[in-house]
Amino acid sequence: MFRRMLQVAAVLGVLSSPALAEAPALTDTCASAPILGRFVEFGKTGRMPQDLRQFLGNPAAQNIAPYQAFDNVHYVGICWVSAWLIPSPNGHVLIDTLYGPYTTRMLENIRALGLDPQDIRLVVVSHGHFDHAGGLAQLKAELAPGTRFAMTAGGWAEAAEDSAAKRPFPWPMIEPDLVLSDGQTVMGGDVAIQAFETPGHTMGTASYAYDVQDGDRTYRAFTVGGLGLNAIRGPEQVEAFIASIERIRSLTETAERPVELHLTTHGFSAGLPEAAAGLGTRKAGEPHPLGGTEGFRRQLDGLAAGAEERLVIERQKQK
Ligand SMILES: [Zn+2]
Repeated sequence: MFRRMLQVAAVLGVLSSPALAEAPALTDTCASAPILGRFVEFGKTGRMPQDLRQFLGNPAAQNIAPYQAFDNVHYVGICWVSAWLIPSPNGHVLIDTLYGPYTTRMLENIRALGLDPQDIRLVVVSHGHFDHAGGLAQLKAELAPGTRFAMTAGGWAEAAEDSAAKRPFPWPMIEPDLVLSDGQTVMGGDVAIQAFETPGHTMGTASYAYDVQDGDRTYRAFTVGGLGLNAIRGPEQVEAFIASIERIRSLTETAERPVELHLTTHGFSAGLPEAAAGLGTRKAGEPHPLGGTEGFRRQLDGLAAGAEERLVIERQKQK
């Protein structure tokens, strides 16, 4: 089961970084470098390292305390997969659902922050893979009636396909609810969230832009919907991935409301736990530990470079 699960999760675009070739040992802590290093190894060999298998299957190791990332954004995910909650006085938005027992843990995380899952009005999902969409059925059953669930048309289709195929293990799905189109802004409570169709990781992958508050400062945050090249079905999909990354990069450069920082779907790919540790020690006047457009651009450039390498391989396969 975990081998296939890892095929879903592996081969992130930054995996070829030579600096990570000598990854330190995995521990029970959620440290990015060893996790990323194991995914690198898995991507190269096609065999999941035994210690990574144990790490992903260890609920204690996946447990991280939820935290307030910005005034109006909370991290409520597990170690290897994110879930972001954006509260507002008239209802909350949740980005991604986790899966299996981790969806229940996410709801517990929300309550631990003093927030009520029953106030969630809108759940937006990045794409149809189990680790992001696997909790939809549970949330539809447990959240308040009238809560809306949103994905792209392609996202709904690929989730239905994976669920029906029991990929990578049996998981339930719901009927499509809101179908998002490119550029569309949807509301959940007072939260406006803009969807972008960013095909590549899967062809139905959506990314999301939304405002986050840090004191007097408002940032335009962005969640890239899919980071890996693990579900590639040919060179056209890799070309779509590269085009989406280029488009997202251009969104960091537009004059009007550029996106300024990345709130990732997989923390280890962006050093999120380490950056978040800075939240507790931040002093007045210091920059936000999760801020930084340059870091976001570097990650995008790494993703694009990895995809260019993969494109060569995919084109050779077709010859
Ligand atoms: Zn995925």
